[in-house]
Amino acid sequence: MALSVALGVPHVSTGQMFRAAIRKGGPIGDAAKQFIDKGQLVPDEITIAVVRLLLDEQGSTGGFIFDGFPRTRTQAEAFDRVLQDRGTRLTAAILLDASEADILQRVLGRQSCEKCGALYHRKLVPPRQSGACDRCGGKLTQRADDTAETVQKRLEVYRKVTLDVVGYYEKAGLLKRVDGGQPKDKVFADIVGLFQS
Ligand code: AMP
Repeated sequence: MALSVALGVPHVSTGQMFRAAIRKGGPIGDAAKQFIDKGQLVPDEITIAVVRLLLDEQGSTGGFIFDGFPRTRTQAEAFDRVLQDRGTRLTAAILLDASEADILQRVLGRQSCEKCGALYHRKLVPPRQSGACDRCGGKLTQRADDTAETVQKRLEVYRKVTLDVVGYYEKAGLLKRVDGGQPKDKVFADIVGLFQS
């Protein structure tokens, strides 16, 4: 089961939004691609505008799980203002804490279905038939930015820029740490458990 189903709120990934914009073509996708391909962050103005647009389109809902956002202090501060304007606020910020060795192993083996988006891993979650989705038979592909070089760059950006966001939410009393080094079912259960007490 997906986390969004277990928690009953839609999943919003800024990375997925950018990849969809790149597939569609147009100014946002073209701009984002230049940064994503290099393992750099998409500029804050673009990222915040995309999130603002999404929230405007969705209207009032029971909430969201934001995945991969915010990644800078500027985004976190802007997000607070965006939520405040809508008369709402953040419930929690979840840090999936994992070693860089685990992250590299997971990201470099990651594959997803072109058709339905289901996620696999060559060794950890292999499909029954290599290269084909168990659910719909669609073709499995690797993300263009999941190369050893780009992942190293993304980790460097995380250490230099995104770690600051951890401190931001810790100070606000919103940070929840989950041991991301555990098997995926345990990580899932720990996250769901945060919202059950
Ligand atoms: P992800 O799918 O979360 O791994 O994101 C893939 C790439 O999209 C990142 O390496 C960034 O280049 C870009 N991206 C996603 N979310 C953000 C964000 N909140 N701020 C800036 N860039 C982002």
